[in-house]
Amino acid sequence: MARGPDLTDTIVAPATARERGYPRAIVRISGKDTADLLKKTFSADDGRPLESHSNPVHLKGMVRIAEPDCEVHAQVLFWPGNRSYTRQASAEIHLPGSLPLVDSLMDELVINGARLAEPGEFTLRAFLSGRMDLTEAEAVLGVINAVDQRNLDVALNQLSGGIAQPLAHARENLITTLAHLEAGLDFVEEDIEFVTPQQVVAMIDGCLETLENLEAQIRGRQQLEQGFRVVLYGLPNSGKSSLFNRLIQSRTNPTEHATAGPSIVSNVSGTTRDFNSARVLVAGHEVTLIDTAGVDEPQGEQRFQASDSPLDHAQEKSQEVVQQADVVLFCIDSSRPIQSWESSVLEKGDFREVFVCLTKSDLQQEPTLDPGPDELSGRFPVVSCSSETGEGLDELIRALETRILDNRTETVSGTAVRCRQSIMDAIQALNQARELVENLSGDELVASELRLALNAIGLITGAVYTDDILDVVFGQFCIGK
Ligand code: GDP
Repeated sequence: MARGPDLTDTIVAPATARERGYPRAIVRISGKDTADLLKKTFSADDGRPLESHSNPVHLKGMVRIAEPDCEVHAQVLFWPGNRSYTRQASAEIHLPGSLPLVDSLMDELVINGARLAEPGEFTLRAFLSGRMDLTEAEAVLGVINAVDQRNLDVALNQLSGGIAQPLAHARENLITTLAHLEAGLDFVEEDIEFVTPQQVVAMIDGCLETLENLEAQIRGRQQLEQGFRVVLYGLPNSGKSSLFNRLIQSRTNPTEHATAGPSIVSNVSGTTRDFNSARVLVAGHEVTLIDTAGVDEPQGEQRFQASDSPLDHAQEKSQEVVQQADVVLFCIDSSRPIQSWESSVLEKGDFREVFVCLTKSDLQQEPTLDPGPDELSGRFPVVSCSSETGEGLDELIRALETRILDNRTETVSGTAVRCRQSIMDAIQALNQARELVENLSGDELVASELRLALNAIGLITGAVYTDDILDVVFGQFCIGK
């Protein structure tokens, strides 16, 4: 939606879907001329003039349309004052669900001086009037666009509070602290301390905790939306491809095709040179499973450096894929001693999350791993499994399910990216403020960081908003919402 519609214009739009078969249609009006427009097309059965109402009313009567000349029964909800959705004089005309009838009524209203609403303009007005904050406005969008029950639940949850509440709380604390700091600055000559550095740090820590939790929630949500990524990683012949194939055999979503064919299972080291991936359903969520088979054991750091060789290229790619994984299934062949590369990878633990899969458990050799499974399980989740017998696979899938379900959070998709960025900006400013307090750098600098944090939070809660954000958010609405 291009910005700049006149928000005092009186706008009209059908609020119901333009589809046949609905018994009722609703046309919405909002703006200062609502009563005048209504008067020209609607006469109430009770005969009372519309101006005589000072409170919202539900009226029954007739709608008259000049072209084609007709009259139909209709009901009107009329908000004469600012107790409406948009906080402007507003009305809803409920009439029989006939598309030509709705079109004729819309024409009539436009001829009489109304303007057709732009997409999302009713909700934009509600937002700008302070009726709702941005997260709520986006939740309205979420409700309208919800494709399944889960999305709908999340949107409704957000509409009734969601992340807005903890944010508002953090914001109030920040404003109070800032007010104290600024009061101190005003009375700097008198040497009065309105707030101690300890109090400022305590408040910052409280806000940081709230914001970091929200950020983690939103990140979790994004991961779910982008599809959770599970990557099989390990030395050649550690059993990755076999495990990949076993997992996709049991978990492939029947309505989706695997994005690649089954990988080649081979006992020749590094036969599979590129990655295979498949989409599988775990705990009702789509998960991308990626097999990095085919990457030889790196021999020193130089193996990770850029090179034209296809093998080095594959290793680089595999590093990249592993870095982006939500969970890495680190496969270690349990039938042979642990290799130095495996130990060093575990030592570094450079993963977001790792499950150690001790593969080929059916080979029943003496445990030759060092560190052994017990020691490993003290540091990582460890699953002993066999792609040959299927042992441990259920346990592995359950562990993944738990991980995915733990990640479920409470924000609507459209909000996530921008909210998260704003929250991260606020976290950065607060960390900076904390450091300044601790270094006794002066209240002016601390106050300025707190203001930055407040601004960032305000971008979500609606106290500060920019045209760009409004365009993105409200442009996604349907007309009439
Ligand atoms: P990758 O190179 O890590 O992908 O390893 P593969 O999955 O290709 O397996 C290497 C070799 O180990 C193949 O000969 C597989 O048949 C064998 N293998 C893999 N998993 C198991 C297992 O659970 N039990 C047994 N006995 N052999 C396995």
